[in-house]
Amino acid sequence: MTLAARLSAIDERIAEAARRFGRDPGEITRIVVTKFHPAQLVRDLHALGVREVGENRQQELTAKRAALGDVQDMRWHFIGQAQTNKAAAIRRASDVVHSVDRVRLADALHRAADDDRVLDVLVQVNLTDDADRGGSTTADAETLAEHVLSLDTLRLRGVMAVAPLDEDPSSAFARLRAVADRIRLLAPEATWISAGMTNDFVQAVEAGATHLRIGSAITGPRPDRG
Ligand SMILES: *Cc1c(COP(=O)(O)O)cnc(C)c1O
Repeated sequence: MTLAARLSAIDERIAEAARRFGRDPGEITRIVVTKFHPAQLVRDLHALGVREVGENRQQELTAKRAALGDVQDMRWHFIGQAQTNKAAAIRRASDVVHSVDRVRLADALHRAADDDRVLDVLVQVNLTDDADRGGSTTADAETLAEHVLSLDTLRLRGVMAVAPLDEDPSSAFARLRAVADRIRLLAPEATWISAGMTNDFVQAVEAGATHLRIGSAITGPRPDRG
């Protein structure tokens, strides 16, 4: 299958899932995760109409964005674990940061602001019991959201999570949905739920995801670090 065929096959499955769960497909944004693939792939996706891409490492994001310097209308999503000392570089290269998982990182992204641009951010929630996985605990997420709301160079858009490997994604995403609902009471405009990857996007659509992060089903297997 060609890249174009894989892309349209996934979009058809997303639309089908949306219809099945009574959602409007137009309210679901499909982000293509291009990590480990060359910048040319991002260019090819752009030619196919893709305008939202995701990367999980700062250096790779920065390099690809520079390589596509002539492309103005691509939105770059940073979806990886972020080191505080990379905050300035992440801020510079990202339109949206999905992985704000601690107060220190929010503060670092805020301090790195060097123009009037307000950065869109999501609070990442850890749905596993493993504290080493990225994300704030479900209990801490609201406190973190409140902190983000106090920083005027950041705009809280919602929540993000990765489903655990050892649990049915539906129950995990239901917990994320509950956190999202509580945060929306604090910030009605924080409506985004970033959840769902190649193997669990249907369950994410069912749970109310507004942003799906889909890599390998569209790009094919990842080179090197698969
Ligand atoms: C790699 C990655 C994805 C995409 O994963 P696929 O299974 O290839 O669709 C989504 N979200 C995050 C945070 C990732 O690191």
